Amino acid sequence: MNGARTSHGDSLLLRVTKYDGEAHWIQRLRVLSDDGLLLRAHASAGAPIFTSRGEFRSRYESFVHFWRDRWYNVFRLAEPGEETALWYCNVTTPPELEGGEIRYIDLDLDVTVRAGGTIELLDADEFEEHRLKYGYPQDVVEHAQAAVGELSALARRNQFPFDL
Ligand SMILES: [Mg+2]
Repeated sequence: MNGARTSHGDSLLLRVTKYDGEAHWIQRLRVLSDDGLLLRAHASAGAPIFTSRGEFRSRYESFVHFWRDRWYNVFRLAEPGEETALWYCNVTTPPELEGGEIRYIDLDLDVTVRAGGTIELLDADEFEEHRLKYGYPQDVVEHAQAAVGELSALARRNQFPFDL
């Protein structure tokens, strides 16, 4: 099990790097629930997000699902007061929690799932580029590819967290 258990209302700093250690994404989150395996957190629309491409503010509410043992996470994005607009799934190393931070390495690949059921794989070219550039170990490549398959299967079956 990676890291300490959190409680409802705790503030967490999400700190994402790429495989070479470069900062990729930093965002403040508020814990909704944590059962020791699944941690659910929230970020309000309009809250600042710091990325390698600069700061921006999302127009979406983010409801984030982190599993301590999975190679992906799922951001359910919704306009304030509206239904889900999009599930944005990041393929990553399993998250680690320490000192009020949640950290993982972003492995480029993303899966988007729309409310109508459309599933799309993004950034496969970037994954291939970084796989060669940084020399992703074979087990990392296999975990990342399996994560895409698992996300797609859950989405096709409308299973949690794609069950709204
Ligand atoms: Mg990506």
